[in-house]
Amino acid sequence: MPSEMLRPASHHRWTLAHEMHQRLEHERTSRLAQLAALKESAPTGTDTQLAVQMNAIRRVLAEIEAAQSRLTSDTYGTCQACDRPIPAERLEILPYARCCVGCQERTG
Ligand SMILES: [Zn+2]
Repeated sequence: MPSEMLRPASHHRWTLAHEMHQRLEHERTSRLAQLAALKESAPTGTDTQLAVQMNAIRRVLAEIEAAQSRLTSDTYGTCQACDRPIPAERLEILPYARCCVGCQERTG
C-alpha cells in the first residue's frame, strides 16, 4: 500500500477525536464519582447547599455528554455561535466548550 494513503491530516484528526473522547469520558467518570460522594454524604437530600452543588455537577455532566455526541457526529470543536473552529488550547482547558472565547464573552 502506498504510504500517501495514510493522509496525515485525517489521521491527526482521528487521533485528536480519540484523545478527546477519552478525556471527556474521564471528566464524566470523575463527575459521576463526585455526585455519588455528595449523595452519600447526605442521604436524606435535604441540604440545599448540597442540592445546588449537585445541580452544578449535573449541568457539567450534560455538557460533557453533549460534547461526546458532537464528537460522534463530527461537529466537535466548532463554535456553536460563529461556526469557526474552537482553538485547541481552549479545548485543552475546557474539553466540553461549546463556543470560542469571543462568543463565550459576548453571550456570557
Ligand atoms: Zn465563536
